[in-house]
Amino acid sequence: MCGIVGYIGMKDARDIILSGLEQLEYRGYDSAGIALFHQQEIKIFKDKGRVSHLRDICDFSFKTGLGIGHTRWATHGEPNHKNSHPHISNSGRFVIVHNGVIENYKKLKIEYLSNYEFYSDTDTEVIVNLIEYFSKSYSGREAIRRTLNELEGSYALLILDKEEPEQLYIAKNKTPLIVGAGESGITIASDVIPLAGHCTTYTSLNDKVFGVVQSKSFQLFDYLGNDLSVQMKKFNINNEDFEKGDFDHFMLKEIHEQPSIIRHLVQEYFDNEKIAIPKKILDCIKSSTKINLVACGTSMYASYMAKYYFEKLCNIPSEVFVASELVYSTPLIVDKPCFIYLSQSGETADSIAVMKKFLAKGFPSIAITNSPNSTMAELATHHLNIFAGKEIAVASTKAYIAQVVTCAILAKALSGQKTNLKNNLNKTAMAIEKILEEKIIIKNLAKQIFTASDVFYIGRGIDYWVCLEAALKLKEISYIHTEAFSSGELKHGSIALIDKDVPVLAICTQEGTNSIVRSNLTETIARGAKGIVIAMESLSDPTDDIILPDVAHYLTPLVSAVVCQLLAYYVAVLKGNDVDKPKNLAKSVTVE
Ligand code: GLU
Repeated sequence: MCGIVGYIGMKDARDIILSGLEQLEYRGYDSAGIALFHQQEIKIFKDKGRVSHLRDICDFSFKTGLGIGHTRWATHGEPNHKNSHPHISNSGRFVIVHNGVIENYKKLKIEYLSNYEFYSDTDTEVIVNLIEYFSKSYSGREAIRRTLNELEGSYALLILDKEEPEQLYIAKNKTPLIVGAGESGITIASDVIPLAGHCTTYTSLNDKVFGVVQSKSFQLFDYLGNDLSVQMKKFNINNEDFEKGDFDHFMLKEIHEQPSIIRHLVQEYFDNEKIAIPKKILDCIKSSTKINLVACGTSMYASYMAKYYFEKLCNIPSEVFVASELVYSTPLIVDKPCFIYLSQSGETADSIAVMKKFLAKGFPSIAITNSPNSTMAELATHHLNIFAGKEIAVASTKAYIAQVVTCAILAKALSGQKTNLKNNLNKTAMAIEKILEEKIIIKNLAKQIFTASDVFYIGRGIDYWVCLEAALKLKEISYIHTEAFSSGELKHGSIALIDKDVPVLAICTQEGTNSIVRSNLTETIARGAKGIVIAMESLSDPTDDIILPDVAHYLTPLVSAVVCQLLAYYVAVLKGNDVDKPKNLAKSVTVE
């Protein structure tokens, strides 16, 4: 969610920060801003809108090696100029950018800052003025430390002090912040991407850590002020992940990467024909009596597939929980559950909150993420990587597929049975390639849908789990109201929504449910709906709209989901939407 980039060193800070913010645009934001140190002054440029607009309003007439930048995803106050970051303290001494939410900002305002003027509606402005408040009695660094001890909530912070033009301050709690070092200087960002090309080593900050960064070195401290040792990792991120190549959008590129991701997962997790998941992970699950899957959004829909695999392939009772609910309403926990958390970024605030809660109660946790250095990967008892590579488009595609494949492999490993999963996954990768080759059919289908104001997906069993993800994908990027129904439920109320020409898409990949889903679709067609069928080849009728190449019955979601991703993509393109950066959405949801 939102982004932060700071730089201190020999290179042009403005250039690194603006390009870095552009690279973080995929995370979703509504305003952008930058503060640049120049001749004892801190110059601020900011506004609602895109980083391209920030480029237009930024002053390029001077050079500087120190600055901080921000893209805002508004949480407190509407997206406008005054609420955009950076924010400045009343005297003008401190300047700050902030990702996150300060939960006790109102209390702090009343307790300490009754004499301060506030020019924005943000929680952030309280932080910068509180630093100033403490700086009346203490050094800049001590004022920051004291302020951090007062804050409750999530934050990644970059702070400039006008009295210290040779350094910047950084701090982090519950929101990612990464420090990268290179020959020419130090880059700080909320994601590794802006470090590419400038840094050879990097470290991710732990929670409740702050630091002082100079052009050649940096020091980290805990909130008592104690020095912390820093372990730098080698920076070896592939630049190609950040480029669209020949594709019009990252989303389309990422959809096309899916067959090779499946093959990559096979390589990672198979040792010849044997599955090679670490024994400690298998033992952790085997020693429990139930699996509780915790996730949000697309990861939650991948979790439903995981539940299916754990129950059908290895007989372990499993339940899916939406993280944002589980934080506040704890279910009755009986027996010995193991918690599995699915999150693409590993930074999902709701899931982190649940993980902390259940770790504290002594329940083991397995994080399945696309980010081995993420907060969740590090907090969890065990971590399993989904190896999807960097996903830039806000609407997840390849990470979903990689999550489902990883869970299928994990479940097969747990079952202990001889498996032809490897072969089946390779066949599935080929089936997806065929769909991609023939994507023109889906592009044409999109023309029948893009003018609709409501769309429904229906299916049963695992097809229904795909419908949920398909509906989310379509609504996320096309902004068309889309719902998924288990087709049997339609008659219990929702069929009242069926109107003339409403597209109803039925997913039919399972022998046991094929005919019943088709008859449920007929019931909607009888009420005026435009029925569209996506079916497995072996179950298809000649009149079906999309025919999927046959794959193993439990892997069909991997194939049908790709069709639905492409359909969402083409509908959004036809509507002229910003496909990779849909409105109001953020890539990793780092606030609760
Ligand atoms: N809570 C802050 C605001 O609303 C920061 C939001 C963000 O993370 O971009 O300005």
